[in-house]
Amino acid sequence: MIKKFEDLIQEEDTKLADYAVRHGDHGGRIFEEGNHEYRLPFQRDKDRIIHCQAFRRLEYKTQVFIASIGDNYRNRLTHTLEVSAITRTVALSLGLNTYLAETIALAHDLGHAPFGHAGQDVLQELMLGKGGFEHNKQSLRIVQYLENRYASFPGLNLCRETLMGIMKHGGDYQDSNQLESRQIIGPSLESMITDVCDGIAYNNHDVEDGYESNLLGLKDLKKIQIFDQNYHLVQKKYPQASEKLLVRETIRSMLNAMVTDLVHEIDSRLVENRIVSRESLGEANQKSIRLVGFSESMQESVTELKKYLHEKLYKHPVVLELSNFGKEIIQVLFHYFSDREDELPASYLNRIEQDGKYRVICDYIAGMTDRYAEEIALDKDLIDPFHDI
Ligand code: MG
Repeated sequence: MIKKFEDLIQEEDTKLADYAVRHGDHGGRIFEEGNHEYRLPFQRDKDRIIHCQAFRRLEYKTQVFIASIGDNYRNRLTHTLEVSAITRTVALSLGLNTYLAETIALAHDLGHAPFGHAGQDVLQELMLGKGGFEHNKQSLRIVQYLENRYASFPGLNLCRETLMGIMKHGGDYQDSNQLESRQIIGPSLESMITDVCDGIAYNNHDVEDGYESNLLGLKDLKKIQIFDQNYHLVQKKYPQASEKLLVRETIRSMLNAMVTDLVHEIDSRLVENRIVSRESLGEANQKSIRLVGFSESMQESVTELKKYLHEKLYKHPVVLELSNFGKEIIQVLFHYFSDREDELPASYLNRIEQDGKYRVICDYIAGMTDRYAEEIALDKDLIDPFHDI
């Protein structure tokens, strides 16, 4: 027996808590489409993200390390998959809509420029006074406008509730009033948890990548309270294990501690604030009550870890050198195409009249993978072919 759309909606909704986004409450799509015979609206959104071009390009976009220095480090795709897995766990444990939460997680970095945060920073500078650049807005632009794979609409035509989640907080998204009216309810819990799970993912995997690449040493890592505590726990449990294995187990243990703290803290805040429906969630949002976050002590630990990573890893000379190289590539490409827009690929050139030259150049560069950006810069003779990175 094939389960029909109505059966699936009913079945899925029985699993959801009262404050979750129901499957029927997807808000519709900007371009009207009928329901699928046997797939739920958010399930379709998730599939559309996985099938889109921007999603595939994440594989060759930097998280912290440039892919060329090793195959063992996270890239933006594996980071995204980790965020999605953690988000699903948190959503499931709280009775939230896992399809929606996972969809938002899978889409959350689609708009990221090549070369990690360095890329975003430099693109922001270059677009100052020209409409700006911000990766969350760019993600929205991709799913609403830039993706070109469906004959009857631009973008992916996702549900309004999904767009709300990708949009995060406000922003000048190009859209209908209906989306704005949904903003009054404020962000769903599904979208709020994704934000925190993003942090849980990178704070832990960056420790691992930092250690495995020898940029962070054990002695130094042990100065961070949460690392040290968990290291002692696993060392006691596995006294024979190698240092490398102990570090990996420590990261596993820290991740579990953060997720566990988060679900318990959210649960108690929901009870404390009597959040029993989407309406009461909307009221709490209006009053700016923070429902999603760590306990006070875990927040302190996470802040300490974050600060450590900023100082010791993201500002490590090796990382900075790679970041600066990426920045340089973006700068030279931006200036090159600003002077010679006729050299843009036809699909971009065609949009200049409608979107303006700089926005189109920004879309083109933001959509590039690290290696493609480097390839174009080399091809146009804009960077030294003998650079040693
Ligand atoms: Mg992220």
